Amino acid sequence: MSAFSHDSHDKYKKISPVSIAIDGPSGAGKSSLAKNLAKKLGFLYLDTGALYRTVGLYVFEAGIGGYETEKIEACIDSKNIKIDVFYKNGEQKVFLNDRDVSEKIRENNISKYASDVSKIPKVREFLLKTQKEAAEKNNIIMDGRDIGTVILPNASVKIFLTSSSDERARRRYEELTGKGKDVDYNAILKEINERDLQDSSRDAAPLKPAQDAFILDNSDCISPVDTLNKALNIIKERLPDVCIR
Ligand code: C5P
Repeated sequence: MSAFSHDSHDKYKKISPVSIAIDGPSGAGKSSLAKNLAKKLGFLYLDTGALYRTVGLYVFEAGIGGYETEKIEACIDSKNIKIDVFYKNGEQKVFLNDRDVSEKIRENNISKYASDVSKIPKVREFLLKTQKEAAEKNNIIMDGRDIGTVILPNASVKIFLTSSSDERARRRYEELTGKGKDVDYNAILKEINERDLQDSSRDAAPLKPAQDAFILDNSDCISPVDTLNKALNIIKERLPDVCIR
């Protein structure tokens, strides 16, 4: 079972919630953009990668390999995995079997598990309800890999945010060394390339831009502020009545 809960007092939510889909490869800056947009628009932000990471964490802690599809499916069938999403001071919190794992799922080794489990259709189906429910009840910005193509095919605005893998690896390297971590650029680049390949070549909901998505490529070092402004312009064009704070 997975559940989503958020007490929104948005007076428009019962009329017709607005949804914005942001997809793209790892490290393109989707979550920063989505968080900033959510603040500017007063929308809820759902980081869907966190859901796959939580399944990945469960599998890792259970000592199951990311490729052991049958075992992972059995865990879902026997309802061993319960995922809940809550918001605390506007910050998304993810609980795995009633334990707050919001920090734990960010650990580096979990990324590969998340990517592995996300290839399994049953895992995707398991997480679908939480995502759909969130969009039915709230004005929302969701980021992920298949939001515009599968989860919210009727999203009001779809943005595919991308940049070259070298640039994404460079940014990640700077972020981690800036936090005092001892990391190797080539190892980061390799991990990004492997994840890109796995995410875009899988059969189930592969990473690809929706046909009606705006492609926003920030390879040429467009700053996060420039990216935000470009995205806001796209949104204003599609939703002229939207209120920007
Ligand atoms: O976005 P993030 O890097 O946290 O996602 C972790 C992994 O979860 C991705 O590499 C991808 O394989 C998977 N994912 C997905 N569909 C989504 C969000 C994430 O398959 N909507």
